[in-house]
Order: sequence, then C-alpha cells, then structure tokens
Amino acid sequence: MNYRHAYHAGNFADVLKHSVLFALIDALKVKDTPFALIDTHAGSGCYALDSEEAGKTGEYRDGIARLLFPDMQRGERGPLPALLRHWLDSVLALPGNEHGLKLYPGSPLQAARAMRAMDSAQLCELHPEEAARLRELFHHDRRVHVHHRNGYEALKALLPPKEKRGLVLIDPPYEAQDSEFRLIEATLKTALQRWPNGIYAIWYPIKLRSQVQPFLRWLQHCGARRVLQAELLVHADDSPLRLNGSGMVILNAPWNLDQVLREPLQALAHLLSQGQPATWRLNWLVQDAATPASPSHHTRPLPQSRRPR
Ligand code: SAM
Repeated sequence: MNYRHAYHAGNFADVLKHSVLFALIDALKVKDTPFALIDTHAGSGCYALDSEEAGKTGEYRDGIARLLFPDMQRGERGPLPALLRHWLDSVLALPGNEHGLKLYPGSPLQAARAMRAMDSAQLCELHPEEAARLRELFHHDRRVHVHHRNGYEALKALLPPKEKRGLVLIDPPYEAQDSEFRLIEATLKTALQRWPNGIYAIWYPIKLRSQVQPFLRWLQHCGARRVLQAELLVHADDSPLRLNGSGMVILNAPWNLDQVLREPLQALAHLLSQGQPATWRLNWLVQDAATPASPSHHTRPLPQSRRPR
C-alpha cells in the first residue's frame, strides 16, 4: 500500500484511462434509464497539481497539460477531436480550475460530474487516508457511496447492481506486478458470473509486452461478448524498468466504441509522444455477431500529411 496516485495524477496513462471512462459514461447516458458505476480502486478523488507530490514527478506536464495547447504540440492548427475536447472542458470546468489547470479530478470525481441525478456510484478505496479524503469529497452527494474496503472483495457483494446496467472500473496500482493480473482474472471470473451484462473497464500498465500477454490471452476466453483493447505507448514495450505505455480493456464494450476511440487515440499518440513517436493500438480481442467487422489497428505514427486536424 505504498502507491499514492497524487504523484501520477493527470499523466499520460490517466489521459487514456479517463478519456475512455468519459466515452463509456457518454454511451451509458444514451439510454434514459439509470446506471451504476463501481470504481474498485478509487483513490482520493481529486489531486492538486501544485502539491509537493505532483511537483516531484511533474508527470501531468507530459499528460493532460499537453492537451491545453494542442496547436503548439501538433505544429499545426486544428481542434482536438470532440471526445477529448469535451473531456478536457469537463476537467477545466471543475471548481478551482477557473484560472487554469490547478486541480486534476480522479476517476470518481470525473464520473460523478458526468453522471445524472438518477445514476449512482459505489467507490472502494483501501488506503485509510485516501478513503477519508474520498468520503469528505462526496459527503454531500447522495448518489455516491464510499466504501473503505478491498475493492476486489467488495465487488462480489456489489454485483449485480439494482440498476441492472452500468460500468465497473478496475484500476489497481499493480504493486503486486504479475500477480495483480491473476487477481483481476479471478475477480472478473466471479463478477461475470454474477453480472454477465455489465461493462468492465480494466486499466493496465505496459512495461514488458510479455508481462501483459497472458492477461490478454485470458480475456479472449473470459466469456464476455465483446472485448476491446485500447493502448497508447510512449516508449517501446521492451523495458521492465519504466512505464512505457498503458492500456484499457473493455469487456462487453458498446459495439461502436472502437469508432468512438479511433480519432482520439490517433490524436493522443501525436500529442503525448516523448522523444520517439508514440504508437497506439485499438483491437477487438473478442467480437460478436453484433460488432461490425472493422480491422484491428496497430499503428506507427501517421505521416505528417495524414495527421488528424
Ligand atoms: N482510479 C483512480 C483514478 O483514476 O483517479 C486511481 C486509483 S490508483 C491507480 C489505485 C488506488 O487503489 C490507490 O489509491 C490505492 O490506495 C488503492 N488500492 C490498492 N489496493 C486496493 C484494494 N485492494 N482495494 C481498493 N483500493 C486499493
């Protein structure tokens, strides 16, 4: 339990994770019936970017801060794709950000701000101080329930939600390295038995590609109808010593999620590259008959002339 998200809030991995989360909540809001969000590893909910922790790593500068000046980063004029624009606007509209980006909302706060009055959230956080901050942040919000407990264990009790539709976000710190993947697999196995129709979004770090492969193979036989993989790599995936990139896998993903994410991922690869050009991957690991046949994408950076405008 050494991990503190305050050191990493708003970094390139958060940008991928939270823009995918934003797209999923958008998709859930298309129907006029309530949904439930369950965040198994919620963190403290909101992070000051001028804190000592954020200042020590400065990671947000190579993350969300790159989206503030897209024209400069792209070396050309042009707006962000709509999904990223709306996501960035929602972050900048957070009280406290009136005079620029000072606060970075974590997944619970981003979700709560996107949810409607009829929707609800269950947030789990094991670290006592982080859980206390989270409770304080949402003490006035009757839609949000904070649980100071192990998110993997709590999930069993929370499924299926009474709303019968919604999303589970699993975003652990991976301090346990490979065994975190095995824990996620075991958790998903039980969760899918209790709630086969839920959407499950799992964030994963990419250091060495070989560390991720067994998990991706397991997902291909996990029983979910559709599984989409979205990845962004800012370095080659061949070093165990640093975070080279990250990915999200989405089980029971909305059928058109790949189309929704394609342009944003292309743009992020361009905006968030470090030293060498970033690469991205958007790939159905599992497809059903309802998923329109679309090719998988694993791209090298686009040539200048084809970069999204
Ligand atoms: N989801 C958050 C966001 O996007 O803003 C960030 C979460 S951070 C990557 C992981 C969090 O999980 C940490 O705050 C850590 O204290 C917490 N944690 C670690 N193990 C846990 C467990 N078994 N159950 C619940 N929380 C846990």
